[in-house]
Amino acid sequence: MFTSISGRSVLVTGGTKGIGKGLAGAFAAEGASVVIVGRDRDAGERAAAELASSGKVAFEQGDVASAASCAAVVAAAEERHGGLDIVCCNAGIFPSAPLTEMTPEQLEEVLATNLKGTFFIVRAALPALKRSGRGRVIVTSSITGPITGYSGWSHYGASKAGQLGFMRSAALELARSQITINAILPGNIITEGLSDLGPDYLRTMEAAIPLGRLGSIEEVASAALFLATEEAAYITGQTLVVDGGQTVPESLEAMG
Ligand code: NAP
Repeated sequence: MFTSISGRSVLVTGGTKGIGKGLAGAFAAEGASVVIVGRDRDAGERAAAELASSGKVAFEQGDVASAASCAAVVAAAEERHGGLDIVCCNAGIFPSAPLTEMTPEQLEEVLATNLKGTFFIVRAALPALKRSGRGRVIVTSSITGPITGYSGWSHYGASKAGQLGFMRSAALELARSQITINAILPGNIITEGLSDLGPDYLRTMEAAIPLGRLGSIEEVASAALFLATEEAAYITGQTLVVDGGQTVPESLEAMG
């Protein structure tokens, strides 16, 4: 049904692992030319080699917390694929720190990566997205912050809610250039980063999800693919929750 991704140039920040790697694989499998971005060169080159079986995927080293680095990866993607049509702002970190123990540096690291990184990459990509004439931005936010809270993740929640505040105003500015920007709010998705939180965390989360399981990176990627299609051209400034129903029940008992 959706046939409009083929031939597009796509940039996925944090595309070397987890959800971002899933996004990159899904876009490549649909015939897009993808550039994935991460800080770790070895991991990035390994991911690009693995994803080559899905389609056209290249790695560019970059740090989204740096505006200069964002400009450099956008320029590299444009040069490599002759333009840029779709940007997935997905790079993110989620270290835990109780409010009373959180240092200013820990707060800054999370805001710089998750929130400022989203701003920097979108701003850097704007000229290319305007030239595209059918630009799409897809932000990976979270249920944590915009909808729910979690002890130990106040800085993370603020960064993820902040992405939505950014998105809504950006949507108005970008609309003039026919660029849409939307956010996906994943619940608990099995990734390297989530697995690092430990088996107890994963078990507790599973019990809180009406569909009875954690989500897969492919399930997040399907939502992103939809938002990138021509068919989704009239959707902007919106959020799409992909959480197995986790944010629906009022309590565990409410799940029946
Ligand atoms: P992950 O497995 O830890 O992967 C994170 C990716 O981001 C890696 O490719 C990492 O590569 C990259 N990254 C981190 N900091 C970066 C920086 N400063 N510059 C460039 N790249 C950077 O994480 P994930 O679970 O897939 O999460 C991806 C996104 O989904 C995040 O924004 C997260 O908040 C969001 N999310 C995840 C879940 C979940 O359940 N997994 C739920 C809700 C939202 P390097 O380390 O090499 O830089």
